Amino acid sequence: ATPISVLVGTGRAAEKGAFVREGAGLQALAEADLIVFDKTGTLTVGRPAVTDVVALGDFDAEEAVRLAAAVERQSEHPIARALVEYAPGAPEAADVEAVPGYGVAGTVGGRRVAVGAERYLDRLGVALDPTDRERAEALAADGKTPVWVVVDDAPAALLAVSDPIKPGARAALDALRQRGLDLALITGDAETTARAVAKQLGIETVRAEVLPDEKADAVAALQAEGRVVAFVGDGINDAPALARADAGLAMGTGTDVAIEAGDVVLAGGDIEAVGRAVGVARATLRNIR
Ligand code: ADP
Ligand code: MG
Repeated sequence: ATPISVLVGTGRAAEKGAFVREGAGLQALAEADLIVFDKTGTLTVGRPAVTDVVALGDFDAEEAVRLAAAVERQSEHPIARALVEYAPGAPEAADVEAVPGYGVAGTVGGRRVAVGAERYLDRLGVALDPTDRERAEALAADGKTPVWVVVDDAPAALLAVSDPIKPGARAALDALRQRGLDLALITGDAETTARAVAKQLGIETVRAEVLPDEKADAVAALQAEGRVVAFVGDGINDAPALARADAGLAMGTGTDVAIEAGDVVLAGGDIEAVGRAVGVARATLRNIR
């Protein structure tokens, strides 16, 4: 049976914008010593915008962007949305194939177009010029995500998208640290980008370039180190990690799949609610003991 104090705690948490779906999750949250955050849409606004466009080789920048937007029209990824907004009126692409964690490819007017991360190009066997790689690293060091555009197997453009950190995120994380919690970041994004964003937030532990189906394994690996892990996320990709964590906290702004996998749902996209939920959870556990 659910102890009465958990019911009381559940009511208090709801008043503070944290809706408890599983009482056991509230107890686990009280005992958590590590909070792992998804990046995109959880710590960042989740609406990246195109910030840089660099044409490569003899390619025309505008044409490369138009071709990229054409294949991205059929992708649901936040980066896809950024590109489509940047180049409205792009043509229709055929044979579009999304490769989760890597990118997307398709055919536009008879040309093969691929858009995605550097590891996607590695996978496609497309060679990159070392100076172009360095440019991408410089963009990533600013916290931007490099996006490569390949046309007919040749690099055509290097783009960057930037997704702002949520206002108040830094303060909310500082408050969690003051409660004695360690913080970590897990993302599919590039290592350098993830480290730059983590640095702005004061997060030291970073797991980057984690494939969508590997986030839960990353949580399990931390648990195997003896950590009691709370995971905070919003995406479809995050559902297995939310379920795997000792306490899963889903963003109320997130996908239904994430919300259903969470023990606790945070109203709005509010990261401050994490600290409030921890406070209520700890007070609740003290009442049980
Ligand atoms: P995250 O949600 O953390 O960005 P994903 O697993 O969705 O992680 O994607 C990992 C990386 O793969 C992205 O940062 C991006 O570089 C690349 N990627 C995935 N899908 C796309 C896409 N549709 N267009 C461009 N890049 C993509
Ligand atoms: Mg996310």
